[in-house]
Amino acid sequence: MLKNWMKPLVGLFLFVGTGAAFGQNGRFQQAVDYKMEVQMDVKTNQYSGTQTLNYTNNSPDTLTRVFYHLYYNAFQPGSMMDVRSRTIADPDARVKDRIFKLKPEEIGYLHAKSLKMNGKSVKFKEVETILEVDLYEPILPNTTVTLEMEFEGQVPLQVRRSGRDSEEGVRYSMSQWYPKMANYDEQGWHANPYIGREFYGLFGDFEVKITIDKSYVLGGTGYLQNPNEIGHGYEDAGVKVPAPKGNTLTWHFVAPKVHDFMWGADPKYKHDKIQMSNGITVHHFYIPGEKTSENWEKLKELTPKAIDFMSKKFGQYPYKQFSVVQGGDGGMEYAMSTLITGERSLPSLVGVMVHELAHSWFHGVLATNESLYPWMDEGFTSYATNLTMANIFQANPNPQRGSYAGYYRLAKSGLEEPMSTHSDHYHTNTAYSSAAYAKGAVFLAQLGYVLGEEVRDRGMLRYWNTWQFRHPNVNDFIRVMEKESGLELDWYKEYFVNSTKTIDYGVKEVKASATGTAITLERIGLMPMPLDVVITYKDGTQEMVYLPLVIMRGEKVQEAGMPTRIKTEAWPWTNLTKTIQLEKPFDQIKSVEIDPSKRLADLQPENNKVEF
Ligand SMILES: [Zn+2]
Repeated sequence: MLKNWMKPLVGLFLFVGTGAAFGQNGRFQQAVDYKMEVQMDVKTNQYSGTQTLNYTNNSPDTLTRVFYHLYYNAFQPGSMMDVRSRTIADPDARVKDRIFKLKPEEIGYLHAKSLKMNGKSVKFKEVETILEVDLYEPILPNTTVTLEMEFEGQVPLQVRRSGRDSEEGVRYSMSQWYPKMANYDEQGWHANPYIGREFYGLFGDFEVKITIDKSYVLGGTGYLQNPNEIGHGYEDAGVKVPAPKGNTLTWHFVAPKVHDFMWGADPKYKHDKIQMSNGITVHHFYIPGEKTSENWEKLKELTPKAIDFMSKKFGQYPYKQFSVVQGGDGGMEYAMSTLITGERSLPSLVGVMVHELAHSWFHGVLATNESLYPWMDEGFTSYATNLTMANIFQANPNPQRGSYAGYYRLAKSGLEEPMSTHSDHYHTNTAYSSAAYAKGAVFLAQLGYVLGEEVRDRGMLRYWNTWQFRHPNVNDFIRVMEKESGLELDWYKEYFVNSTKTIDYGVKEVKASATGTAITLERIGLMPMPLDVVITYKDGTQEMVYLPLVIMRGEKVQEAGMPTRIKTEAWPWTNLTKTIQLEKPFDQIKSVEIDPSKRLADLQPENNKVEF
């Protein structure tokens, strides 16, 4: 009797215990606080520095090892990035065999010279782009340790994203340049070797002091702390900047609550400072010339405009600064800044600026693990870019069309892999980029069709408010949209993200019936979707029949601008056909069309409409 009575009690205690632990286990974020001092030698392109990293283990786990990224070691012949680029079927034109051909003075490297934890040396091993560190004693949950490192590096000749002496003549594009702690989250360590794709960093405060030849102008992440000592366009109005005493200047930057730190540097940079009315300062850095000056002058009006539009649509930009820096090899996003090539036509310059700026929301602040979910960064960014460009140029009535076309090409190419693929492990660059950029954008655009545009837009703001600075994953996103819409959406993720199944619906038959007209629709593609079916009558009026999926457990609200919904019938996904009865006689019907809005990513649109 007692034993039997005790059993549930023990169970209850265990449950309570597990429940409490689960609360801590569920989600946590490691915290970093970087202080770095760097000396750059502009003659040898080598640099040395010290890093003091306060690392807080907020996880419930005891850590016996830590890992740092040493990205510059990828720029050496025979590296994983080099081998991958020389063996993949469709190499990035910017990389190809260029790493393989780098000479000793052109390669990149980043080495730890010493490493101490709380003042005592620790053992470490460099495995190409990852530094593996075996700790002499573990880092316990809820404790902070201080990791002090001396490091030295050589800036590679510009091949991909970062490096020196870019094609446009920019001396330094300093991204992925410092020893960076890998992320540890509820899915464990993410010590991915760098092969040239995506990133994932931890939020923290950065304080960076860079000592460099006094002729160089610097711009990038971070607020400059000594502008009136540095000058170069940073000084306050009316301030007379004293001449530097030696040959160098030490630039002192701080950047709170970011997960990366980039800087560009060139003696020829023109520095434009644009003050926005909401307190944000925009900085532009470019080398003036025939191919740049005119368009970069025009950009001064458009960068603030894009920040305003994005803030309204996706949430307020949270930093007080954004810097557009000429450098790199295309466009790449960093905290509070971007590196873009600058010799472009105006539409191209604006397009790349807007794209990299839009990353500030999805990569910068929401900060999804881009390696695991590249489409939640690149796809959402592409979607936002399309909208922002349409707003700036007031020209494109269907801004997401290009993304749909890109997805259709991918789906028909035979190369498609599920969007759940880790970015490093896609078989081809085509499959990766089309999935991440195009299909990722379609995911959001099509969600407007599933939920209704207004609900999707409100959901995007809710996503921002709920998950900013917290690294949301695909489930987090889906849950926000479920809460905002009241619909069940797991099926949308399972099919569109985790599989390559495609959508194809058709109007099979429209004929007179005893009660009026019978419309038979069929599902040909493997992915089920809700349908908007628009009936146009011979007198020009239109009505809509709406067919949500049973598994949505609800329906979207009537969308503004759409024909009035006269009928709603849920469609079980198991059924390949569905017949709807209309009261109107067959001879009054001019056409029946599935989704005239073209937001449904239907691979065979030819069978979507019948006309009489
Ligand atoms: Zn991008």
